[in-house]
Amino acid sequence: MTRGSGTTETKSGREAGAEGGKKADAKAAKAVGVKRGRKADAKAVRETGAKGGREADAKAVKEAVKKPGANIHELISRLSEHYPDARTALDFTNPLEILVATILSAQCTDERVNIVTAKLFKKYRKAEDYYAVPQEELENDIRSTGFYRNKAKNIRGATRMIVERYKNSFPNMMETLLELPGVARKTANCVLSNAFGIAAGVVVDTHVLRLSARLGLTHEEDAEKVERDLMAQVPKEHWIHFSHWLINHGRAICKARKPMCRECFLNDICPSAEL
Ligand code: SF4
Repeated sequence: MTRGSGTTETKSGREAGAEGGKKADAKAAKAVGVKRGRKADAKAVRETGAKGGREADAKAVKEAVKKPGANIHELISRLSEHYPDARTALDFTNPLEILVATILSAQCTDERVNIVTAKLFKKYRKAEDYYAVPQEELENDIRSTGFYRNKAKNIRGATRMIVERYKNSFPNMMETLLELPGVARKTANCVLSNAFGIAAGVVVDTHVLRLSARLGLTHEEDAEKVERDLMAQVPKEHWIHFSHWLINHGRAICKARKPMCRECFLNDICPSAEL
């Protein structure tokens, strides 16, 4: 099961599913509000297995050694060689779809999101379609992704703003995207990089957070601070690919609970390698 890249947003109050340990969980749960909704959300999260992974991620970040980081150029060279076709695992065909898919991916697996969006994107083709239906109808259509009440609210708010404020011209700047309900830096970076090829920052999801710590590229735990550290070290032309590489590596080898250091092609330059 692949955990979604929709995690580690620092604007967790606005974006259900920020992945920052118990504190973010509590905030997100609070945002969802209604007790019944919380119960259903908890069930959905249990089903995706996201919570256990989140805890393992937080533990991995805390345990990561604080030594000088891996040589960034060597790291980029090896990662690009091993993951030449790395891209987002979320299915989409336009900016609106990647925005919706990224919002849904918070605390959910990309596989689950793709199952849901396969139907969703046939039903909701334009931004206005998302708020033309009652909130409950959209909630039902996205229910299995968890935190569906808050996600539906954010999707409806964001799509309404795209239509009413931006006259259906999809925003392609970080500052503008951050104005949309439920959108913080990770989601904005996802949209900009995947839909427009714009490198405004580095997507920091749960895998990027964990691997950045293990590789000694940051000593921070907050996603925005980690992103700043990465932007300072990774040449800008690699910002987009860098997060895809780390996400691929996190899923394949440097797993949250049990990193496979012996098989890892980075084990001679990684300060956290356990051999
Ligand atoms: S050696 Fe590889 S698997 Fe082990 S912690 Fe480092 S990057 Fe992760």
